[in-house]
Amino acid sequence: MSETQQAGWLQGDVALITGGGSGIGRAVAERFLAEGAHVAVFGRNQEKLDAVVAESGHPERMLAVAGDVRSSEDLHRAVGATVDRFGRLDIAVPNAGIWDFNRSLTRLSGGELAAAFDELFSINVKGYLLTAEAVWRELVKTRGCMVMTLSNASFHTAGGGPVYTASKFAARGLVNQLAYELAPKVRVNGVAVGGMNTDLRGPAAIGLRERSIADSFARSTVTGNNPLIPLHDSSVDPVDFTGPYVLLASRANSGNITGQTLQADGGIAVRGF
Ligand code: NAD
Repeated sequence: MSETQQAGWLQGDVALITGGGSGIGRAVAERFLAEGAHVAVFGRNQEKLDAVVAESGHPERMLAVAGDVRSSEDLHRAVGATVDRFGRLDIAVPNAGIWDFNRSLTRLSGGELAAAFDELFSINVKGYLLTAEAVWRELVKTRGCMVMTLSNASFHTAGGGPVYTASKFAARGLVNQLAYELAPKVRVNGVAVGGMNTDLRGPAAIGLRERSIADSFARSTVTGNNPLIPLHDSSVDPVDFTGPYVLLASRANSGNITGQTLQADGGIAVRGF
């Protein structure tokens, strides 16, 4: 095998991933490392992030920065720390998010709905926008890119309640609008992942902060709703969803792709729901 073939698709690139302490964010961090990148993980819990670095096998190519995606100051601090440590930023993955555990309109009072909306949108939508604001200047310098984590709920019903679904449609809007605004120097794309067995939590405002989607996977026996992946199959590992992130992050392999969202959800659209 030649040297070029041995090099990873992200060799020498530097990435910053929000929500990189668990779930798909962590899986993408580990995959990016395997593709030759340096990776900064950002999230609320320093201990969790430190464990990701320690267990990565490449701590010298990783950085952990604690903060909240609702804070522009925290995000700018993370970008500064990443560039100080690794010299540049090529890839940003806005990914930190929470879910509404399918809480439907008719199961929420007006007060609960308002509180759930404010908390969830401030993380899932404002958090993505603030991340984009914190990273774009560095990405312009490197002709880099953003790859946002979207969801089957960015396209279809029943991937959440109205609050989550609206937030993920909104994030899809950000992909398109930011791709338009930041061209030609920065590409912006999304990966709409389907249900995965992660630690995805809910809004504290409606008592769902301590609940994890992993509990739903553990409880449910529902299977067969999806052409490729049985819903609530506890073997649905985020690792299996990382390929599209690598593809869209790679200049060599998708240098002329922007404003696209790749649906990696096991083929939900084929079933039409
Ligand atoms: P996860 O909880 O394992 O990962 C999310 C991470 O974001 C956590 O580490 C959490 O601590 C962090 N986070 C949450 N709020 C934050 C904040 N305010 N500031 C900083 N960090 C914060 O769950 P996951 O499933 O890996 O979720 C990642 C993304 O995937 C989310 O955007 C989610 O909507 C999306 N997604 C998940 C699924 C699924 O079934 N798990 C399906 C579709 C889309």
